[in-house]
Amino acid sequence: MPRILLLIILGWLLYVVSKRFIAKIKPNEPTKTDDPEAEKVVACSQCGVHIPENESRLIGDVTVCNNPSCQEQAK
Ligand SMILES: [Zn+2]
Repeated sequence: MPRILLLIILGWLLYVVSKRFIAKIKPNEPTKTDDPEAEKVVACSQCGVHIPENESRLIGDVTVCNNPSCQEQAK
């Protein structure tokens, strides 16, 4: 009988530890996509400033920054 109890306790401990281990890994997955190094950086064709690709604007086939004068010159 104590052997069975020991097995149950061991099984429960394994379950709790593995659950914690999985919970520790999972929250790290979305933060990986937020890594600034993973973001592509492009240069403005007018002023040469480097900006993230999602903040840049594509006018025709040139990439410009959010500066209105750069966007005017690219037209
Ligand atoms: Zn610019």
